[in-house]
Amino acid sequence: MRLHYALFSILLSGSAFAQTMKFTANLTDCKKDQVAVELNCSYKGKDTAFYSFPMTIPGTYAVLDYGRYISALKAFDSNGKILKVKKQGNNTFAIVPGKDVAKIQYLVDDSWEEKNKKTKIFEPAGTGFEANEFFYINSGGLFGFFATNWNAQYDITFMKPANLTGFTTLPEIRIEQSQQEFSAKNYHELIDNPILFTSEKGQSVQIQDTKVTVASYYSASDSSAYFVKIKIDSAMQAIDRFVGGKLPVQNYAFLNYVKDYRELGEMLMGGKIGPFGYLKLYRKLGGQGFGALEHGNSSSYFMPDFGHNSYTGMLYETAIHEFMHIYTPLSLHSQYIGEFNYLHPVMSKHLWLYEGVTEYFATQIAMQGGLVSVDQTIEDKLKSKIVSSYSYPDSIPFTVMSAKVFDKPYIDQYPQVYERGAIMGMLLDIEIMRLTDGKKTLKTVVFELGKKYGAGKSFEEEKFIDEFIAAVHPDLRAFFDNYVTGKTPLAIEKGFAEIGIDYKKEQTGRVPLDILSMDDNKVKANNRVVVNNRVTVEKADKSNYVGLKAGDKVDVTELRQVLRDDAGNYVAEGTMITIHVDRKGTSIPLTFPAKFKDGMLKNTIKINPNMTADQKKLFDLWSTGK
Ligand SMILES: [Zn+2]
Repeated sequence: MRLHYALFSILLSGSAFAQTMKFTANLTDCKKDQVAVELNCSYKGKDTAFYSFPMTIPGTYAVLDYGRYISALKAFDSNGKILKVKKQGNNTFAIVPGKDVAKIQYLVDDSWEEKNKKTKIFEPAGTGFEANEFFYINSGGLFGFFATNWNAQYDITFMKPANLTGFTTLPEIRIEQSQQEFSAKNYHELIDNPILFTSEKGQSVQIQDTKVTVASYYSASDSSAYFVKIKIDSAMQAIDRFVGGKLPVQNYAFLNYVKDYRELGEMLMGGKIGPFGYLKLYRKLGGQGFGALEHGNSSSYFMPDFGHNSYTGMLYETAIHEFMHIYTPLSLHSQYIGEFNYLHPVMSKHLWLYEGVTEYFATQIAMQGGLVSVDQTIEDKLKSKIVSSYSYPDSIPFTVMSAKVFDKPYIDQYPQVYERGAIMGMLLDIEIMRLTDGKKTLKTVVFELGKKYGAGKSFEEEKFIDEFIAAVHPDLRAFFDNYVTGKTPLAIEKGFAEIGIDYKKEQTGRVPLDILSMDDNKVKANNRVVVNNRVTVEKADKSNYVGLKAGDKVDVTELRQVLRDDAGNYVAEGTMITIHVDRKGTSIPLTFPAKFKDGMLKNTIKINPNMTADQKKLFDLWSTGK
């Protein structure tokens, strides 16, 4: 009887909860950047009904509190009688009585306008409204849920201006000039599919069986989607090659917003930046969350343009990263993500897998796909990650930081997932190749486990590391004990040596004079600001041996390259080298002798020209995938 009773009550609550949540959001009458939302439902709660917005959503690893942007909330019963409403905390509205809730109305402010930088929602997870221009919608910001009832169906209708079209991977029910309707089978699906309303035309690319849509908004251009598409196309081709010619989704969308910072870019590049310039820069850029957020069939972007379409340069690496999230965590995650709790989430300790491995894959895909050369991958991408990784304490195990990421001090350690986490991913890859003699790689293990679980099935949080080790080799345990759950500094030198790359954290030797410094060359440059790879000379004494003048823009990559020969060694003292500076828009060649001094060489990485056969085999596997 007890069992039956339990079954009966589940069925009962199931039927009560299975009610469709019918929302209408009015984008046509957006005043003061506010959108009016109405919910029609037949919710039968208890004495009090709790209507809430998410405290966070998957992938952000931060407290968002969308409920902060909801105002003027009114609730009515099925007879049109107004009900009492009281806000509890940031995200929940208590409605009394809760037995018959038929309609809720409220206004939503966009989170992008938040003035407090500390509590601002990361833009790609937030909401941005601009009447008749664009609406950047993460549904958690507009649409709520009752109690913990995340399984109700959601029907969403947007009343929209005729010039805007909404792009999303949510199923579309209807599209007309003045409205567009979508449905989601539950709250998870709604949250997992952001929507971008834009006046720009969408673009699409077909990668084998996968249709990729690109939607974008940029106030300064009506063809930003086109420029984005070009980058996305080559990024997707590289991914396709990496995963072996079968992308895991039938359709995918890139939803992109570009913020216009060209004026600031000019100012920086003009070298005219004084103390007030910095103040302006800080005010404008401070607290802006450039980047992206991943979803199962799409990703949403917030990118800056400092001129010359610079947003597309950054976009391409980010796009590979976000797409690869389809594998981790979207197809390989613990129950804390699979059964996500929007009000009281529990964080998983496996950020090494969800973000570290993803970021490493993104770097490796660009290299293996030929988008970035092996040398550049090592010298630009990996080296900068290694340098940044040293700024995070080894005293906090990665898994501890991960599980407590909402709290201080761990929250400040989060950015290491892209630096130390990616290097950890690379070392794990190398260790897997070493232990299996190249039969397995990090990619093949992640794909193998991803097949076993997939989007709809979670692995057990506490057992996953054991399972991962079992899929490779018993000796892999030491790697996890030391570096993932332990406090041992990453053994970068040892790892690189396995694949024939020589890495030294520090060694004394001859270092080139810094042509952009007062001490070495009587030149003052603003090294802190690098725009499009270029540093601007602020002052240059006539006696400088390079021939630089104030206002010259020096390409730092070119400078680094001319100082080395093809094997990556520094050229001999006195060798004449040439760089090309941008002087008032004209490219001017400057030829000067290479000069050196005694100093400390930091983070030198070189491919060993005399690798052993074993090293060569793993190096090829790592760098080409074969
Ligand atoms: Zn990520």
